[in-house]
Amino acid sequence: MYYKSTRNSGVKITSAEAIVQGISEDGGLFVPSEIPSITMDEIVRLGDMSYAERAAYVFAKYLTDFTEAEIRYCTENAYNDKKFATDNIAEMSHLFDGTYILELWHGPTCAFKDMALQILPYLLTTSVKKININKKIVILVATSGDTGKAALEGFADVPGTQIMVFYPEDGVSPMQKRQMTTQSGENVGVCAVEGNFDDCQNGVKSIFTNEEIKTELDRNKMMFSSANSINWGRLAPQIIYYISAYATLVKDEEIKAGDKINIVVPTGNFGNILAAYYAKHMGVPVNKLICASNTNKVLTDFITTGVYDRNRQFFTTISPSMDILISSNLERLLYLMCGENDAQIREWFGSLAKDGRYEVTHEIKAKLAEEFAAGYCDDNETKATIKKIYDKYSYTLDTHSAVAVKVYEDYRQSTGDITKTVIASTASPYKFSASVLEAIEGKASSLDEFAMVDRLKELSGYDIPTSLAELKTKERRFNDVITKEQQKDYVLKQLSM
Ligand SMILES: *Cc1c(COP(=O)(O)O)cnc(C)c1O
Repeated sequence: MYYKSTRNSGVKITSAEAIVQGISEDGGLFVPSEIPSITMDEIVRLGDMSYAERAAYVFAKYLTDFTEAEIRYCTENAYNDKKFATDNIAEMSHLFDGTYILELWHGPTCAFKDMALQILPYLLTTSVKKININKKIVILVATSGDTGKAALEGFADVPGTQIMVFYPEDGVSPMQKRQMTTQSGENVGVCAVEGNFDDCQNGVKSIFTNEEIKTELDRNKMMFSSANSINWGRLAPQIIYYISAYATLVKDEEIKAGDKINIVVPTGNFGNILAAYYAKHMGVPVNKLICASNTNKVLTDFITTGVYDRNRQFFTTISPSMDILISSNLERLLYLMCGENDAQIREWFGSLAKDGRYEVTHEIKAKLAEEFAAGYCDDNETKATIKKIYDKYSYTLDTHSAVAVKVYEDYRQSTGDITKTVIASTASPYKFSASVLEAIEGKASSLDEFAMVDRLKELSGYDIPTSLAELKTKERRFNDVITKEQQKDYVLKQLSM
């Protein structure tokens, strides 16, 4: 297997090269040359393995240039009980008749991004060694909250790497800010930017592509790489938990091998649901992939009409990790759906960059309708869903997972489809305590962030994740606040250049 670019099918590189490069020079994203298959027998056998073993088994199909020992080194270091609060790594909760919640947030930062960002540093440093790059890898991240912390936690003290995270000074929750500014590790840097997320992102992008800085880095035996979800090294680990979830359902006799399931995913950048699409096309029997959005419903509109149009109002919601109008990973789906027609992708994404809009062909619209369903809900419906599920099932959802549950309830009602269904749950309710408490108690809480966490424990009965409890007494290490113009100098200073 090799990897090609969605904007140039002629590119032919190994998985290690794709992981190190992050994004193709032509602006396209790397995809494997084919989707490897997994048989039902293989899936059933995974049921008897640990999560790390399941991961190694599936990775071997994608990282064909890695040795077995290299893959095992990565999976064993990432998926263990020192890093995750549960031996199972991902937990599955039976919510109501035939509906399961796949809890992907038992990692160190309490969001599903840990599932990929705990292993990415190992995949990346192993890849660097494999292709004989003798350089330090410098990771730059712009974050609106969850990715930054998960990347910091993943890369902290990983030899041969250095990481710098930029976040909008007034654009993250108090808990997220505290998570980042108290980060330990000798190779980490965290800095607030006076501006919004786009300012942070633009700064990082311009540093990435600055030829002068690149040359200077090269002279100092360093290079940039990316930890966001355009990197294949972040997507591949996400395929695993869908296959693993199916194996668990069979093992627990909730379904019979071969039965179809639906998968519901609260979606932003389209990475998580694309991983479910890959799992389906490898061999997991899936009826519908259900894409759930908040009020920023650009994806619901796209899936139902075939028109992608980002020229619309941007809303700030209580599910902030889904507040996004450009879903990068959609490019990979469309590349697969249009028969790997790179010219077509260049046309659509050129038009997205230029006019903020494109419309796919009838053929693709039909494929989207066949494989996907989509829906959205607003903040009030999200809160009402948290309250309803809490009252009815004593289960506490976070704001993102609640969007998925609501969209699924609407889907089930309008279609009458009673196929057993797995709903991806992407964050611990403790990470969004204020909104979750408001939903359950019916009014905004006046407590401080940590008192809210304690109150939520009284209501939910769930253990407070140690990593969040520790923040209360953890010392703040990073106080820098800079303007967007100062980002470049900040990076150079951190690298002592
Ligand atoms: C990142 C994130 C999402 C969106 O996932 P995508 O892969 O970008 O679609 C949903 N929920 C939470 C809590 C997240 O952190």
